[in-house]
Parts: sequence; structure tokens; C-alpha cells
Amino acid sequence: MEDTLKTFKEYLKRRKQFDQAQTMLAWDMQTAAPKDSVESKIESIGFFSTESFRMSTAKEYGALLEELSKPEQFQKLDEGMAITVERERKKYKRFQRVPEAFYTEFVTEKARSEHAWEEAKEKDDFSIYEPHLDKIISMTKEFVHYIEPDQEVYEVLLDMYEEGMDSHTIDTIFTELKEGLKPLIEKITSKPQPDLSLLDGRYDIQAQKKVQDVLLDYIGFNFDRGTTAESVHPFTITLCHGDVRVTNSYDEEAPISSMFSAIHEGGHAIFEQNVNEKYKDTAVEEIELMGLHESQSRFYENMLGRNKNFWIPVYDKVAEILPQLKNVPLDVFMQAINVVKPSLIRVDADEVTYCMHIILRYEMEKAIFIDHVPTKELPKLWNKKMEELLGVVPQSDAEGIMQDMHWSDGSFGYFPSYLLGSVYDGMLLEQVEEELGSVDQILADGRIKEITHWLNEKIHQYGSLYTSKEVIERVCHKEISARPLLSYFTKKYD
Ligand code: ZN
Repeated sequence: MEDTLKTFKEYLKRRKQFDQAQTMLAWDMQTAAPKDSVESKIESIGFFSTESFRMSTAKEYGALLEELSKPEQFQKLDEGMAITVERERKKYKRFQRVPEAFYTEFVTEKARSEHAWEEAKEKDDFSIYEPHLDKIISMTKEFVHYIEPDQEVYEVLLDMYEEGMDSHTIDTIFTELKEGLKPLIEKITSKPQPDLSLLDGRYDIQAQKKVQDVLLDYIGFNFDRGTTAESVHPFTITLCHGDVRVTNSYDEEAPISSMFSAIHEGGHAIFEQNVNEKYKDTAVEEIELMGLHESQSRFYENMLGRNKNFWIPVYDKVAEILPQLKNVPLDVFMQAINVVKPSLIRVDADEVTYCMHIILRYEMEKAIFIDHVPTKELPKLWNKKMEELLGVVPQSDAEGIMQDMHWSDGSFGYFPSYLLGSVYDGMLLEQVEEELGSVDQILADGRIKEITHWLNEKIHQYGSLYTSKEVIERVCHKEISARPLLSYFTKKYD
């Protein structure tokens, strides 16, 4: 047993080094690398991921997993290692069924497609992206047929990003939201929009970067265990134990956008940074529960960040860095960050209409994987759904179907997790209030880190030990429901 476990741990460590090299290259490609190096970087990414894949499917690895899974061995493993063996065994069985040549092609095509998406979006030309998207969709279907030949493709995809979640449950939650939100959005948008011209102007990018650091520090991001950079689309990435990085994108005329991206990505990073040390080098550290992950980023972004009291202790400091804000009273700033208005771009959407953007993507994914709608018809379908759900129609595909990067790298099934995250947040907010008292008061007092600490204790420290459903039931003692989120919206905006 001792020997098998030792060999297993060493094996994992070696594989992790390939993964780390691959992540480092991906990070570099998206933040710093010059355009002309892309093709050779993609090749290197392909190399490292193939090596990692080989290790995950090697016969000797399967034998180690088999050995450690024997009841007399398995029961001696600590919690973190037991989870690791279970998950690795599941992956091993799945990957065994995927031909290596297909896998390498899939990984490189993802990188190529991501790159084509960038170009197509920039030139607003869907025809550049269409063949890649089409290939990614068919390869995703093929991939799922290999790993789970007896299951529905879309159910497997949903489960990949939010273990234990299925389309039946999501249908129920999203339908309740859709029905509750439609009249609320109509009611809010029938009122006159506030005058926000005080915020007009150009905001220095370097200053916006400084504001990002202030906000990250304020909510509890640990700069000894992470860093920041700029990219086309904000994201968070864990490079290795003790190194969680966030990116942001900047627009001189939209400082609020970079502030909220900073808070959002900061929420993801705080989760990753605070997994209990005892789970180091186990699967518990790898948090692939995207609904739970989004619940953390969106809790900071919306439940806390869009609350006026969040800004009371920090607004003057932000205005020191962005002097234009000295002429903008906090109340006007509050109106600006809480405008509810149907719009085209998901990442710029307010917290209420955002839900509709996700429901649209969920319905699109069902159209792709259940109804098999041809790729060339997707832009039109997108626009039709925009009109139905939000009453606005994109004039171009760049602000329509091509706005997000997710599908370009094959992340189908990911989008629903954003909204599931918000659904969990509605429940978490009620629970925080019950246990810690008024969130308004805590924020106004500048005690936001008490909330971060609560999240560390209740959620972050366990990493991916429990599924999202288990976490919510353990923390909130209730079953998942959309009602708390709907009542949060109604209370705030009605
Ligand atoms: Zn996120």
C-alpha cells in the first residue's frame, strides 16, 4: 500500500508538471505573446497536453488506480486522496475510450478555433469563425460519444461543468426565472432612465489598473498567492499551488466595466486561493464545479459589489485614483452600476437582464446538441432569441453570437453555470444575513472581510470536496430554488 500510494503520488506530480507547462503557455498566449508566435505556441500546448493525456491513459496508471481502489487499500486513504483516486479512475475509464490522435487534434483545433474567433470577432465576419465552430461542435459530439457512449451528449456536457446537474433541473429553475423576470424587467424599464452624463469622459487605463488592485485587496485577494495581467476577455487561472492569476480588459470610456470584472474575477480567485492546505496536491484543489465557482465570483460582483454599502468605505480611495469620479456623487455612481436595461452584450449586462442572456445561451446549446441546428443558421437563431427574451436585436454578429469566447474552445455546457451561480447566491445571501446579521451594515462598516472569512469557512476551504448541490444544502439547509434570487431582485428593483 505505502509503495503503491507513493508511486501514485509521484506519478500525479509528474503529470502536473506537464499540465503546468501547458497552462503557462496558454496564459502567455492570452496575455503577452506576440501574434506571430501563436502557431508555434499552439504546437507546444498540443505537445504538453498529449503527454499529460498519455500519462492519464497509460496502462501502468490504470493498474495503480485499480490497486488503490481495492476496498482494503481504499479505506486507508485520507479524504483528499480517496476523492483523487475516485475521480482519476472515472477519467481514466473515459479517456481510455478516446483515440490519442483524435484527442491531440481536438486540443489543437480548440486553440486554432479560439484564435479564429478572435480574428472573426475583430473583423465582424462570422464566415471566418463558422468552419471552426462547426468543427468544434462535431468534435465535441464525437468526444462525448467516446467518453460516455450511452449518455445524451448535452447531459454529459452539463455534468462536466456542474457535477450532478441535469437539463431537467435547469429547465425548472430557468423557467421559473424567465417567468418571474419578464414582467419585472418590463416594469423597471418602463421607468425613466437616470441621467448618467456626469460619468462621461476618458479614464486612464493605468489608473484603472490601480483601481483593480485596490478592489482586489479590499475584497480579500491575496497578492502573495496571485497576480494580474491584461487580456481580451477577463479570466482567472490557477497556475499551480499558491499562484492564482486574474486578468482584466480595459476601455477608456468604461471604467465601471473593469471594476466589476476585477471584483468578479477576484471572487473566483479568492475561492481558489483558500482551499485548505490539507488538500494540496489532491483533486480537491481542482475546482471544476463551475456553478459553485460562479456563485463565488458573482456573489462579490452582484450581491456585494452592486450594494451601495460596498462602496462607502472605498469610494473616496477609488476617486483619488480616478479623479473624474470626484465630481460624481456616490448616489449617481450607484445608479450607474444598477441600471437595468436590456442590451446586447452579456458581460456588460446588469444583474437582472443578465439572467436572460444565460437563458438564451442555454437554449442555443440545446438547439445545437439536442435539435442539431446547422452551424450556419445559428447567428439568425441567436438574433431571434435576443428579440424574444430581451427585445433587442444585434446589428452584427460581433455583438451577437460571436461576443463570447466559450464556444470557440469547446466550453459547451458552461454558460448555465453562471446563472446557477446567481441562484445559489440568492440562497447564500439569505444565509449570510441569518448568521452574520445585516449585510448592509457589515459592508458600511468596512467589515467586508468578515463575509470573505465566512465564505472561506463555509465553502472555499473544501474546494471541490462536495458537489454544488451538496454545498448549498450543507450551508443553507435547503434545496436549490430560484425563489430567493427572484425575491432579491424584486426587493431591490420593484
Ligand atoms: Zn466567472
